[in-house]
Amino acid sequence: MNTDKDKELKGGLPICVHLCLSVANIFGVEFRMTHIKSEELFRRAVEKIPGGVNSPVRAFRGVGGQPIFIARGQGSHLFDVDGNEYIDYVGSWGPLLLGHRHPEILAALEKALEIGTSFGAPTEQEVLLADAICEAVPSIEMVRLVNSGTEATMSAIRVARGFTKRDLIVKFEGCYHGHVDSLLVKAGSGLATLGIADTQGVPKAFADTTIALPYNSLDALEEAFRVHGERIAAVIVEPVVGNMGCVPPLPGYLEGMREITARYGALLIFDEVMTGFRVAFGGAQARYGIRPDLTTLGKVIGGGLPVGAYGGRRDIMSMVAPAGPIYQAGTLSGNPLAVAAGLAMLRHLKAHPEVYDRVEACGARLEAAAPAGVTVNRVGSMFTFFFTDGPVTGWESAKKCDTARFGRFFRRMLEGGVYLAPSQFEAAFVSAAHSDDDIERTIAAVREEAESELRSD
Ligand SMILES: *Cc1c(COP(=O)(O)O)cnc(C)c1O
Repeated sequence: MNTDKDKELKGGLPICVHLCLSVANIFGVEFRMTHIKSEELFRRAVEKIPGGVNSPVRAFRGVGGQPIFIARGQGSHLFDVDGNEYIDYVGSWGPLLLGHRHPEILAALEKALEIGTSFGAPTEQEVLLADAICEAVPSIEMVRLVNSGTEATMSAIRVARGFTKRDLIVKFEGCYHGHVDSLLVKAGSGLATLGIADTQGVPKAFADTTIALPYNSLDALEEAFRVHGERIAAVIVEPVVGNMGCVPPLPGYLEGMREITARYGALLIFDEVMTGFRVAFGGAQARYGIRPDLTTLGKVIGGGLPVGAYGGRRDIMSMVAPAGPIYQAGTLSGNPLAVAAGLAMLRHLKAHPEVYDRVEACGARLEAAAPAGVTVNRVGSMFTFFFTDGPVTGWESAKKCDTARFGRFFRRMLEGGVYLAPSQFEAAFVSAAHSDDDIERTIAAVREEAESELRSD
């Protein structure tokens, strides 16, 4: 990236930055990394983009200073605009189970480009992707493609309401289901980190249709159904929560949820936007052996391009327009590029089940390297180091974490070349592209970080 723009950025540096760096060098202070171009880009970004970013979790002002601008990714590594290299555990927030620029996904995209980027008319590839999804996730008998996870959950709850002719939705504190109006209640990481209890701009009437309950409490769910059962259209849940950090379901929790919803005629929606094709090929429902009525997908099924999907029981999905009376549409839904990338991803995962063994083993090694006093939650390739010594089973316990300690951890790991999500309430993701060397270097960085922490006490 040696363009005129680069030179312009360098030329535009405030003098103090040059001075600071050279002074630091004279006194032999070790500067392992600088973020000069990122700083300059961020200064320009905040002028034109709210907060300088196109999605709030990317802004980690106050934790690591400011976001790192990425120049490119390759396999398990990220390279920023200042030439720093990182081992990437964000993986674009979940989609990149095969790492950056996987050759089979690139080849599929190149082939798709030869044909055209969008037709707004059906293509063969969409049928193949629908077949692949339904085959991998048997509870999905019919599926509709959309462009994001948010669209998938928004559409799924509309379908649940239309099908049951009821209005209320149950969700769980700390679970995030995209920025759907009625689901932005107690919605986990992004909002938690920003300290926004409840977003503005959602009419009270919408929020009133949502019942937020503590995750992992069957008693709370039973009680809500005892009171409102006849009015509840659906329960939507992250079967393994990723959006308050990784929080797995307690034994029997999902089974109990399945039983209660069925008893009251409410639908069970598994939001597998994060867990789908991640915690197992068939998602969390395969891993835990539960059959939801509807499932939402996103992230991994797009192979790094914007895709979402919702699907489930044939009798329910048959209600979606134009087959039925519940409207949902999308100009770019099922567009050839996104579908090609998604199909290449699912085909690779089906042909290489060992991917799941590999990421599981890498996850286990990282889990074992956690510093003392940290609670690790991990499901396969999803994990979180919670800076608390108690178990983390829901939002109340996650909230007890020492977020200042997490902030120091995050910053030192970044300086050590390990790119993690800048919030205590996010999951880290291992990809099939992470090498043994990546894992060893990460473990060494965790040890070094713990020593720095001890020294600074
Ligand atoms: C990321 C996520 C979403 C939202 O997906 P977008 O593509 O960001 O709209 C919904 N649900 C879960 C569980 C997610 O992790």
